[in-house]
Amino acid sequence: MLKSHSCGELNKKHIGAEVTLAGWVDRRRDHGRLIFIDLRDREGVVQVVFNPEVSKLCHEIASEMRNEYVVRVSGEVAPRPPGTENPKLPTGDIEVIARNTEILNPSKTPPFYINEDVEVEESLRLKYRYLDLRRPRMKEKLILRHRVVKFIRDFLDARGFIEVETPILIKSTPEGARDYLVPSRFHPGKFYALPQSPQQLKQLLMVAGVEKYFQIARCFRDEDTRADRQPEFTQLDLEMSFVEEEDILNLIEELFTSMVETIKPEMQLIKPFPRLSYAEAMERYGTDKPDLRFGQEIRDLSDIVAQSDFAVFRSAIANGGKVKGICAPGCATYTRNQLDELNKLVQGLGAEGLVTMSLGTEGGSLNNLTIEMVRSVAAKFLTLDQVKAMAERLGANMGDLLLIVAAKPKLVNMVLDELRREVASRLKLADPNLFAFAYIENFPLLRWDEEAGRWESEHHPFTAPRDEDVSLLDTTPEKVRGKHYDMVCNGYEIGGGSLRIHTSHLQRKVFKLLGYSDEEIDDRFGHMLEAFDYGAPPHGGIALGIDRIVMLLSGDETIREVIAFPKNQNAVDLTFNAPSSVTEEQLAELHLRLREE
Ligand code: ASP
Repeated sequence: MLKSHSCGELNKKHIGAEVTLAGWVDRRRDHGRLIFIDLRDREGVVQVVFNPEVSKLCHEIASEMRNEYVVRVSGEVAPRPPGTENPKLPTGDIEVIARNTEILNPSKTPPFYINEDVEVEESLRLKYRYLDLRRPRMKEKLILRHRVVKFIRDFLDARGFIEVETPILIKSTPEGARDYLVPSRFHPGKFYALPQSPQQLKQLLMVAGVEKYFQIARCFRDEDTRADRQPEFTQLDLEMSFVEEEDILNLIEELFTSMVETIKPEMQLIKPFPRLSYAEAMERYGTDKPDLRFGQEIRDLSDIVAQSDFAVFRSAIANGGKVKGICAPGCATYTRNQLDELNKLVQGLGAEGLVTMSLGTEGGSLNNLTIEMVRSVAAKFLTLDQVKAMAERLGANMGDLLLIVAAKPKLVNMVLDELRREVASRLKLADPNLFAFAYIENFPLLRWDEEAGRWESEHHPFTAPRDEDVSLLDTTPEKVRGKHYDMVCNGYEIGGGSLRIHTSHLQRKVFKLLGYSDEEIDDRFGHMLEAFDYGAPPHGGIALGIDRIVMLLSGDETIREVIAFPKNQNAVDLTFNAPSSVTEEQLAELHLRLREE
């Protein structure tokens, strides 16, 4: 090694020791006679002093050093002169008196400060990601991610799982997104698809008798990039044979509980993880990935206002819609502007509008509410009893604001889910120290795709229907529930899985229901159906998004923060400038010609 110690590890115990350090110049202070350098490596920063009386040559070399120069220093660890200690720095009691030094490599002036935690435009950070990752805050995220993955590996290894790698060049394995395709040079006109997940491969490993598999697996999905979505992302992918749903849910609950307790002991968990049916989650939170850190549950008010004189409510219900609401505590004082903002949010989501109802002023009992105290366009069309009944159902008090939406059930849920999160963020209702993990179960197996006019899998086509619902596949597919479960945390879907179909006849039946012809089934999934005919064990599994988990653990709001080299919002890698053009020769080799658009 070019160094004997790391900068960050030095402390009082090392006083008197001769050390050799190597790292980057974090900061240089030239006090004329003495030059001070904060030398940084991965473990931290230590102060180095260049004194011409100790070494004239070293002092001369140090006067050439600038920020981010790579340097090597040898010298003695000494206590800092009394009064100059820096209690904020772990190495703040000592300094290194340089006797020897060399510049290993100079550096241009970096485009942003490495030594200060300042806001830098993201595209600049991504272009110079190698400099961005030098910043201690980013380095901590890399280390956190490493620890999470290591924890997972150790945990599963101790429970008899083996990690198996699966191919990246493979065939389409549907998870509901577009595939990334790779043209084949050997087979003109043919393409590999990058796996959207190792789903089929892990199922084949179960047929192969592996019984307990996991992988830290890269998945590729060509879909719009978002804060919590990247074209390529990492899953903890897991599959087990001879299991029931409980076995998988309990294993993952134990994994996450122990991981958080080990890696983020300061965070709270709700134990055991709450379990909600899909129907219940939709009813109470309007979404299948509810944030359970706060209440403000959605309540159906339709029965209260169905007969009211307020046409907006009455006609929505008459047209098969619903009237539902939530309560924003203490927000009766919201100004016109603030209410307009909420209205705009609602309209942006496609609803006609929001009915707001301010309940007087804070304090006092709802019993004393009069209709004059209610500020709302609907007030003059409603009776006091109707208003009170709504307020009570929403758990409101005087001084609260009711947010009510009337529309088709799906839209009502979507809008109120958004409003509920908006209210929680404005009022800071979510406990920042809480990870509210939960399981969502009992999803429908299929969903009707209006546009395409056919059934789609709610999860993916390999999910088994509930045994008692199998006969409904022929008659009322919409009523079939799948053996599918999702894990959510703080409003994010962290992962999902299912027990799988393991017989070829049921798998073929589900593919047919999804609109595939027999020929298409054989062409795309023949390998699975055949495998199931060679003694496939009952099996099931789950996959969990590592990027999202690390993002939550690090308190970030986008997974780009916890991926070493992420793509930007337009799916571009700014460091490499990928994607990029290729040469005519490359295209020709691949038997491709670009189309004129
Ligand atoms: N392959 C599924 C996914 O990526 C997870 C699973 O069913 O295990 O969502």
